[in-house]
Amino acid sequence: MNHIKQAIRTIPDYPKPGIQFRDVTTLLGDAGAFRAAVDALVYPFAGRKIDKVAGIEARGFILGGAVAHQLSVGFIPVRKKGKLPHDTLSQSYELEYGVDEVEIHADAVSPGETVLIVDDLIATGGTAEAAIKLLRAAGAEVIGASFLVDLPDLGGARRVAATGVPVTRLVEFEGE
Ligand code: AMP
Repeated sequence: MNHIKQAIRTIPDYPKPGIQFRDVTTLLGDAGAFRAAVDALVYPFAGRKIDKVAGIEARGFILGGAVAHQLSVGFIPVRKKGKLPHDTLSQSYELEYGVDEVEIHADAVSPGETVLIVDDLIATGGTAEAAIKLLRAAGAEVIGASFLVDLPDLGGARRVAATGVPVTRLVEFEGE
């Protein structure tokens, strides 16, 4: 996991003072680290029945797409409001200032399908929790939520685990 952690670049005070932005573009650009990260995301689910992977916009599309390909399953994009062209289900969630909304196509999952959520990073867990609510509203059984990075000081993994969805993450960074 050290290889993976070292491949993630930290940008201090981005997008605002006090935030340490964990930039995974450097990991994505490093063939060995990208491959190792996708393998490590897939590994805990070997032998499990997974029907689809849901990736959260935008970096969750890149990682989730690779995970779905490796598992030979379909992919569901969880998008920011207003981006999906067909009938959607929406779920709002609170940000530090204001609210945001994520959507999936209403027909993206069939009732009873098992879904694994993938994103690059879990901070407060608000986005992941909204994705879980959406997928459950569509009838999915969410069997896990997987992240490259956890910021444990923000408590997101605990928040997601409280919904009953097991959380896996590859590396941790202190602070926000
Ligand atoms: P949250 O809903 O608070 O768990 O925020 C998770 C989303 O915000 C993820 O899609 C991340 O890509 C992004 N994010 C939050 N904090 C950071 C950070 N310090 N560095 C990079 N991305 C972040």
